[in-house]
Amino acid sequence: MCYAIPGKIIELKGKIAVIDYFGEKRNVLSEFVTVQKGDYVYAQGGIIVDKIPENEAIEILKLWKEKFFELKKIDKKLAQLNKIPSARNILEILQKVNLKKELSKKELLYLLKLRDKASLKLLFQTANNIRQREHDNACCVHGIIEFSNYCKNNCLYCGIRKDRKIERYRMNMDEIIEVAKYAVNKLGFKALVLQSGEDYWYDENKLYKIVKEIRKLNVLIFLSIGIRSKETYQKLYEAGARAVLLRFETSNRRLFKKLRPKTSFDERLELIKFLKEVGYIVATGFLTGLPGETDKDIINNILLTKSLNADMYSFGPLIPAKRTPLENLKPVHEEVVLKTISISRFVDRNSKILVTFAFETLGKDAKKKGLLTGANSLMINVTPLRYRKLYELYPGRPDRDKEVEKNIKETVDLLYSLGRAPTDLGV
Ligand code: SAH
Ligand code: SF4
Repeated sequence: MCYAIPGKIIELKGKIAVIDYFGEKRNVLSEFVTVQKGDYVYAQGGIIVDKIPENEAIEILKLWKEKFFELKKIDKKLAQLNKIPSARNILEILQKVNLKKELSKKELLYLLKLRDKASLKLLFQTANNIRQREHDNACCVHGIIEFSNYCKNNCLYCGIRKDRKIERYRMNMDEIIEVAKYAVNKLGFKALVLQSGEDYWYDENKLYKIVKEIRKLNVLIFLSIGIRSKETYQKLYEAGARAVLLRFETSNRRLFKKLRPKTSFDERLELIKFLKEVGYIVATGFLTGLPGETDKDIINNILLTKSLNADMYSFGPLIPAKRTPLENLKPVHEEVVLKTISISRFVDRNSKILVTFAFETLGKDAKKKGLLTGANSLMINVTPLRYRKLYELYPGRPDRDKEVEKNIKETVDLLYSLGRAPTDLGV
């Protein structure tokens, strides 16, 4: 299985290339690889990451051709709007969504407070329908390597916070490169997230070398390493990283201060803005279910993600971890996360929305439900099993002991059953 379908460049407009997937067109950035009209390429996150020989591409496309159209049909059918008897208010709001009108905060709150089954069904269906209209059946699948569980911070909710006594590990550079090679060359990933606690043992130099080596694999590199200096992020961009996953965690300053001691809301926000300026693809978002969080906070979180021009929305429920200050917190209900996905889709129609691992811990079908309520991105854990169980941000992760090959098979089966294909979502 490959997480990308090769596309053919049919037009070049400066740095933008238009690529064609069986008649479907996407705009992508061409910068890593020198390309010409007629070339076959792989794109990830809207960036061309690799060029492939024509004969190889044609072979792969032959295998995809039938499947591609079959998947589209399934997706279209699942994204159809069925008639559901509903209250006038919700119909009026969803009509506005359909007409691409901006919803007021009051209307967004109204949607978030919906509880009855029929209204929720309509809400979720509408979000899935918009996802399909905006992005067709494209779905991106990224691999994630959790390379260190050391962290200098003490976020109250986190299972690898500094003060929690756990067995710590650090993967050395060779190990990280080995896993990345396996993920790209053997498993077919075209985008890899490198995640860790805030671990300054990996200084700028080490990170630079790691990124530079992995970039040689022609893969999109996502960093998720927390706060670093602007200079370091600039350097890592130069080394070839092109995306960063950095959540602002909550738009509520009071909660941020309480839950993330000795860290600064303003610094985090400023860094996220800086990363956009540098040219990184930015995935950001928040936790839901923080103690004392209100519905208004959730709506503000969604709106802040949008105002930061996030390329990808990443949010998930807070899962209380034993021996952390929040161990007795009641986790948020799955429905709240699903509503948050749908509302994010309305607020930012064209966005990429991730189904997070944390959300997957809330129920067996969470991944499927997320994809059917407006989400269109997934991650698969490629961290070696011996480390994975030590990277316990929260308990109950469904992939904790699952071999990556098995996980890939299940994910691909799920995506196909929903009619989703790994074409790039473009810029
Ligand atoms: N140290 C980096 C990256 C690793 S943490 C950082 O903080 O940005 C990645 C994400 O895990 C955080 O953004 C946080 O939102 C999430 N997380 C931490 N503890 C969690 C918990 N108990 N439940 C759900 N998500 C959690
Ligand atoms: Fe460290 Fe990130 Fe966990 Fe905070 S959320 S303690 S920064 S790993």
